[in-house]
Amino acid sequence: MSFEISRRDVLGRIGILETKSGKLETPALLPVVNPLVQEIPPHVMFERLGCKALITNAYLISRRSENTGVTNIHDFLDFPGIIATDSGAYQILRYGEVEISPLEVIRYQESIQTDIGVILDLPTGSRASKARATETVRETIRRADEAKKAITRRDIAWVGPIQGGTFPDLVAHSAREMAKREFDIYALGSPTEVMEQYLFPDLADMILAAKTNVPSSAPFHLFGAGHPFMFAFAVALGCDLFDSAAYILYARRGRYLTNAGTLHLEDMEYFPCGCSACDNSTPDQVRSRPPTDRTRFLAEHNLSACLQEIETIKEAIAEGRLWELIEVRCRGHPSLLEGLRRIEKHKSHLAHAAPSTKRKGVFFFDSTSLQRPEYVTYLERLVRDYEQPKAATTMVLMPATRRGPKDRASKSMERVEFGQKVHVCLYCPPYGIVPSELEDTFPFMHTEFPEQPDAGTIKAMAEAIRIYLVKNKAYQSLVFVHSNKSWQKRLGRMCAHTCREMGLKFSFHGRHKLSNLPIEILGNQERYRDKIVTNKLARKKS
Ligand SMILES: [Zn+2]
Repeated sequence: MSFEISRRDVLGRIGILETKSGKLETPALLPVVNPLVQEIPPHVMFERLGCKALITNAYLISRRSENTGVTNIHDFLDFPGIIATDSGAYQILRYGEVEISPLEVIRYQESIQTDIGVILDLPTGSRASKARATETVRETIRRADEAKKAITRRDIAWVGPIQGGTFPDLVAHSAREMAKREFDIYALGSPTEVMEQYLFPDLADMILAAKTNVPSSAPFHLFGAGHPFMFAFAVALGCDLFDSAAYILYARRGRYLTNAGTLHLEDMEYFPCGCSACDNSTPDQVRSRPPTDRTRFLAEHNLSACLQEIETIKEAIAEGRLWELIEVRCRGHPSLLEGLRRIEKHKSHLAHAAPSTKRKGVFFFDSTSLQRPEYVTYLERLVRDYEQPKAATTMVLMPATRRGPKDRASKSMERVEFGQKVHVCLYCPPYGIVPSELEDTFPFMHTEFPEQPDAGTIKAMAEAIRIYLVKNKAYQSLVFVHSNKSWQKRLGRMCAHTCREMGLKFSFHGRHKLSNLPIEILGNQERYRDKIVTNKLARKKS
């Protein structure tokens, strides 16, 4: 098995997972196929829906006496693609126990020619006490040691499940121990219940606790995630593989999945989808069909919707727009938005692990965007690596007024030339402070923002200015320039407060009074008078 990553955005990546039955591009969804009942035959999934991989349950196959002769799972399911087999852990979670030993599960998966195998772990679940969770982690690690000794086929990619439930410290410990045992793929076990209850903030904590403690070069699987509305969120946190029976479970209950949430076939008037199932039907027609046909229709649509969403996510990664996509998708449900906000807690990790520059610009929407890695990295570098010009004692903080890089650059060039004692800096949402020397750099130059920031963004801008002033102590005064917008005046008042606390002189100036600035700031010194030129002109001359 090999895994090669070709593109990255946030913590998401596009990769190629090579198995003994071929290559799989990730992120990828492996639909759960019940070995006994199949609404969509696996070969139809492969040929018509473009499903390159699926997951089935080795435990369920092994338990049926008529299946004792199964020697090749690909022939048994009539599926030429990649087949992963689960070990029965899900059955433990649902029914308490399984009648197979951890060693038998390994041998059985090897004997049926699986491509991706899972050791028999002991799932924690979401309701376990800390003591019980600790026990499941310990037992899963013990079984991992046993399994590693029992594995004879290295051509199968083996999955190391990470347990610990909703306790991030246990998840982190479990991940570290699994990493020591060098599995081909790491997987977060038992988040199904967490997802069923829409506990997306907990899910974010769990995924990141696991992800940060396993090698980033290995694929990361999220067990039981099957609703397309949360794929982008999970991919942005570093998940490469999903498996789920949601497409069929929802279909049986008359539910129609979309990347924005779930609809009920019973209430629908239109199909907002262009998949081959939806293309030729209306909700009325589908409702009039026999129940089994209805379920098959919904299963096919649901699976198509999942696969389409994966393609949308891959395109977003390739474009460098994964963050923009998760901001849209997280508006699909308040809990998902809460999950996105939980990233605040992990934003520093995300900023360090995510690509620091990109070809595309950055769309800033509102304070939710303050956690995006490009912005967090900018702030960290400004505080850590930047020092104010040595001679500067006065900062003139001016608005960079226009939307769009070109507009902004030309507008901010219209600048007063003050001399060395004055340092011109710019502000615009979400950047509280951008020294003018950095105005042509990423990400400031490439950020599109709304003219009117929300309250959270204004607060973050004021805080950035405060942190900057605390670090760069040589300024004696701050001149805050505004263009008469109420949010700018509000930001100015916050800066005034900071200046008072720090003992700096503060003054407010409307843009129209800009030409008076040199005299007001520096006194009536001859050498600073009449030097109002644009940078553009200055550049032309030089
Ligand atoms: Zn459809």
